[in-house]
Amino acid sequence: MLLTPGPTPVPEFVRKAMADVTIHHRTPEFEQIFKETRELLFELFQMDEVVMLASSGSGAMEACVTNLTHKKALTVNSGKFGERFGKICKAFDIDYTEIKNEWNTPVSVEAIVEAVKNDNEIDAIFIQLCESAGGLRHPVEDIAREVKKINKNIMIVADGITAVGVENIDTTNLDAVITGSQKALMLPPGLAIIGFSNEAVNKIEEKPKGFYFNLATEIKKQKTNTTAWTAATTLIIGLKEILSYIKENIGFEKLYEDTAKRADATKEALKAIGFEIYPKVPAKAMTAVYCEKSNDIRKILKEKYDVNIAGGQDHLKGNLFRINHMGLVEDFEAAWVVNAVELALDELGIRTFDGSANKVFLSKMFKA
Ligand SMILES: *Cc1c(COP(=O)(O)O)cnc(C)c1O
Repeated sequence: MLLTPGPTPVPEFVRKAMADVTIHHRTPEFEQIFKETRELLFELFQMDEVVMLASSGSGAMEACVTNLTHKKALTVNSGKFGERFGKICKAFDIDYTEIKNEWNTPVSVEAIVEAVKNDNEIDAIFIQLCESAGGLRHPVEDIAREVKKINKNIMIVADGITAVGVENIDTTNLDAVITGSQKALMLPPGLAIIGFSNEAVNKIEEKPKGFYFNLATEIKKQKTNTTAWTAATTLIIGLKEILSYIKENIGFEKLYEDTAKRADATKEALKAIGFEIYPKVPAKAMTAVYCEKSNDIRKILKEKYDVNIAGGQDHLKGNLFRINHMGLVEDFEAAWVVNAVELALDELGIRTFDGSANKVFLSKMFKA
């Protein structure tokens, strides 16, 4: 059972759709698929423009940094992925300042407002909706609203790689929202997607940058249902399949509701058996728990109960475990994980098993 916060399992019907013969990307057949996928993405993102890139999520992060910063970037580092925006700026010699916090601490709206007021050079802000390193949710929508009051030309770029398809994001004041195929979209890795505001498109077209990740070229091409370079045809076929499945059989709103419910029930179940949720403001995409016995728990889960969950990175290596809620996770799978964690605690002599995790999980899911 793969319950890591990315990659997530690829449903069988998607795998089957992707197993068909490869079609040429410069054909009316593929352009039709591309067009339908774009339309579904507009519904998912609720934004003015959207592009698909043949790259992992980090490629889209790089494209946004290089195409949307003309003067100076402000990056938010509350974990590995926020740190990455700064590393991209450095790699391209783009001027930037960073607001750094511990991995359990979201940036405050005030800190951003102060940084923007004190530095007129800042013309783009880069932040995660969900920082997957510690499973926290930044107050991106509030930040965007306050920043736009100060200067509406400052671009707000949100890394939504573990938020798009997880929750309803208010994109009113967002200029770019990034996602990748292997998280909530339940596809193999290799496709990145960016939603844009019209203002972001204007800024990109004002000063085209780069070659492979030249977003001006990509936007121009994708408006006509083709891509600048060879499209990731197989992944786009899979994307169309998963999005139309969700739209027709579940509905995006219902998917967000189910994910939130499962996330909340999991957190309550783990708290009931003595765990502390790591982030001060947890995201819905995953549950991150601080625990010095994380590696032992993960080992027992994997070897005895057939459950794969993620650990921590860098300074949290061995002290964190992270359980995924993204995608079409079955209720019985989520229930099994909290049961397995409780059994592991018993095996490690930390807490005697009494079935509390299961009871709390099921009560929150079905009796609340
Ligand atoms: C997974 C992830 C990324 C990185 O994406 P890659 O596809 O590995 O390049 C970036 N940001 C967040 C928040 C993520 O969870």
